[in-house]
Amino acid sequence: MTGKFEALSVETLPKRLGETTALSERIGKDASRWKVREVGDGNLNLVFIVEGDKGAAVVKQALPYVRLVGDSWPLPLKRSFFEYHALTRQERRAPGSVPAIYHFDETQALIVMEYLAPPHIILRRALIDGRELPKIARDIGLFMARTLFRGSDLSMVTRERKADLALFADNVELCDITENLVFSDPYFDAEMNRHTSPQLDGLVAELRADRDLKVEAQRLKHLFAANAETLLHGDLHSGSIMVTDSETRMIDPEFAFYGPIAFDVGMLLANFWMAFFSQRGHEEKGSRDSMRAYLLKVTAETWAVFRAEFSHLWRTERTGMLYQKSLFENQDDRLGAEQALDHMLSGIWTDLLGFAGIEVHRRILGLAHNADFETIADADLRARCEAKALRFGRHIAVNRRQIHGIDEVNTLAALIEQENRI
Ligand code: ADP
Ligand code: MG
Repeated sequence: MTGKFEALSVETLPKRLGETTALSERIGKDASRWKVREVGDGNLNLVFIVEGDKGAAVVKQALPYVRLVGDSWPLPLKRSFFEYHALTRQERRAPGSVPAIYHFDETQALIVMEYLAPPHIILRRALIDGRELPKIARDIGLFMARTLFRGSDLSMVTRERKADLALFADNVELCDITENLVFSDPYFDAEMNRHTSPQLDGLVAELRADRDLKVEAQRLKHLFAANAETLLHGDLHSGSIMVTDSETRMIDPEFAFYGPIAFDVGMLLANFWMAFFSQRGHEEKGSRDSMRAYLLKVTAETWAVFRAEFSHLWRTERTGMLYQKSLFENQDDRLGAEQALDHMLSGIWTDLLGFAGIEVHRRILGLAHNADFETIADADLRARCEAKALRFGRHIAVNRRQIHGIDEVNTLAALIEQENRI
């Protein structure tokens, strides 16, 4: 399929993709027998599931605007190009962690990929349902360490990394969304903001008047924009992960670009902490005490796995131009390499707390809320959960240099969760 971009529909898809052998060979050649459904519970793009006689696949197509909002908010088709290139790199760097890619059509801005069939579900949904998935901490920790280490100057040939940096630098519009929606809008009366009102009005006013918080948010924005350390997923939250009890896959890296390692890790952990604070709103069918304990354990384990794998790669795969072995191991100075690793991990730790705190705020105060809180129908109850998360976010963002371990953060989260004030 070539020619001018045209959005697919359930009706036109078989005719338009019937000749695409990467698809037809996989799901069945007789396109007239294909069954097509649109799933698209996402915000930005069209997602179809196509089933033929032999199998099924997913077709994801970008639109020249934001699906959720309509053509009043244009967004370039090239986000599909970045998603495709990010997926192929993630597959190379962390094999088996993303859906297999069957086909990419740049003009039509579409990706044909592996269908993650039920029982795969979106991780966020599983956490709202109170499911304690056994493998997520390990799988996600490994994914982050491998993609973030192997996409950086610790590993890559610097000429290749710079070429890749240039390629992804063009993902301007999606970066712009993050730059505004995550780092700025929550802290002033931006047009698209919303929050649970009037319950949170007082706290929102307090946060917007919080000079230390605003300064910290802008320092983090600066870091996000200026520290092109590695290829990020860029939108690594629990809605971008599909799971079963035995499998974990990351999807939807259309926000991919070169930024700080701590960004992906912070955003991900923030989503676990939000799941934690939202549990109180999902106790109709019974206590979520065990789920709360599980979620804190998952944050600690994810961070531990990330650190362990990052350290392992540091010791075994440090082939890039940074912290060369010629300066350390090759001079019999293994301690020097370990010292540098410690510095690096403690920098990532400090920054991830900042990114996590800001991510919590923007999900409660900005445009893109998350279902963990949104599905709590009782507004007073929802506001109580959100207020606790907001206070927690403020604390870890502003005090991030004084917080030294994840147990300290989780103890704080548990204390705030048990408070009884709005
Ligand atoms: P958007 O970029 O518009 O947010 P996503 O990539 O998040 O789109 O996909 C939207 C939804 O489509 C996901 O939440 C998921 O339910 C479904 N989906 C996406 N990719 C797959 C896949 N490979 N297999 C099964 N379902 C998928
Ligand atoms: Mg998306």
